[in-house]
Amino acid sequence: MARYTDASCRLCRREAQKLFLKGERCYTKKCSAEKRAYAPGQHGQQRKKQSEYGLQLREKQKAKRFYGVLERQFGSYFDMAVKRRGVTGTNLLQILESRLDNVVYRLGLASSRAEARQLVRHAHFTVNGQKVNIPSYLVKPGDVVALRQKSRSIDKFKSILEITGSKIVPAWLEFDYDNLSGRVVSLAAREDVDVQVSEHLIVELYSK
Ligand code: SF4
Repeated sequence: MARYTDASCRLCRREAQKLFLKGERCYTKKCSAEKRAYAPGQHGQQRKKQSEYGLQLREKQKAKRFYGVLERQFGSYFDMAVKRRGVTGTNLLQILESRLDNVVYRLGLASSRAEARQLVRHAHFTVNGQKVNIPSYLVKPGDVVALRQKSRSIDKFKSILEITGSKIVPAWLEFDYDNLSGRVVSLAAREDVDVQVSEHLIVELYSK
């Protein structure tokens, strides 16, 4: 399964925005996007005027990077979004939010989407009681995502769970702390998605 393996902080600096790809580090003074607030590379500090296409492209790249999705999969999510009823941009964000790795992150069971992806790959979670190790698995309203019984004693989860109780779960999810599970109440509404992306620019890009 292909994934981006280069330095994550470069991506934030390229998008001139914190994408929160590294968990706890993103909230400290070590954050590269704060220490070096310019694009990476030799010409990163030069000012460039963005074309309309450039702006649209950057929004698409940003959305891909927020969710850790590569080009081909992002394109197929866009095709799915077009086929759904409603506003295409909102549909696209709903699909991205429905990814299992994102749901695990949103429930506070991982400190970043990248960590959530790895935990899902290592089969620590079930969906409706069935083991699922596919990060791109799309959950539906009514699905229950739970930490597997035998994973609960792992030290990593113990430390994650210490801070999970204080995390705010979005309105479209319900977290059951006693059973360490989360129920998908509905699809994410646009106002529940705190990712700073102008999705209409992505729709314009793909509509060319
Ligand atoms: Fe981005 Fe986090 Fe790196 Fe800061 S620490 S640049 S927010 S990945």
